[in-house]
Amino acid sequence: MRQKLVVGNWKMHGSRASVDALLGDLAGGTAGAAAEVAVCPTYVHLDQALKLCAGSTLSVGAQDCSHMASGAYTGEVSAEMLAELGCRWVILGHSERRQYHAESDDLVAAKLAAAISAGLQAIVCVGETREQRENGEAEAVVGAQLKGALADQASLEGLVVAYEPVWAIGTGLTATPEEAQDMHAYIRESLDGIAGVDPAQTRLLYGGSVKAGNAAELFAQPDIDGALVGGAALVAEDFRAIVEAAR
Ligand code: PEP
Repeated sequence: MRQKLVVGNWKMHGSRASVDALLGDLAGGTAGAAAEVAVCPTYVHLDQALKLCAGSTLSVGAQDCSHMASGAYTGEVSAEMLAELGCRWVILGHSERRQYHAESDDLVAAKLAAAISAGLQAIVCVGETREQRENGEAEAVVGAQLKGALADQASLEGLVVAYEPVWAIGTGLTATPEEAQDMHAYIRESLDGIAGVDPAQTRLLYGGSVKAGNAAELFAQPDIDGALVGGAALVAEDFRAIVEAAR
């Protein structure tokens, strides 16, 4: 039985005051939730978030990490540093990293290796563009992203995969529950061919304009084990409602 997981990706949002306010609400407001709940603030807000979440059921993750262990890599933050700080999760291969930072599947794979070695639990994002979907390439694109990131890793225990169709991120467009379920089923099938993954135990999250109004229908699908939430994760009431929808 896979416990539902709801992860807030705060992207480049927040201030010390807003992090205080949001986590002040969420730390108590999600206690007793049926789903596991995590938040991923910016690097500069991680320490503050970890302190605010201490003693609560909320866990904390980063939105990225370096593929290198340490050294002259200006601006980078290593997986070890995140683990030492107390982070549990790291999001890797988000479409905004792929789009704005030219992250390839090879780079995502190297980041995943670094995260595994540091003991972080990775949330690996995959998803097709609208054009790729319209051309009938969605499964091929997602399958290649999965293989590219997951092949030849030392250990994939605790891996989480987030299916985030690029055309649904921050657009207000959501895949229908059936479209999302079809791709999640395909992802679970594809994981079967990857060494070190137990497809039945691997949690698959849907991401792309998840809101209080559509979360329950998505979560009711047999292969959807929760959500990676962007915009709605910044509003305590909305995020709490999504967490509740997993009950
Ligand atoms: C995301 O960035 O991971 C995301 C799913 O964003 P949104 O919920 O805003 O579409």
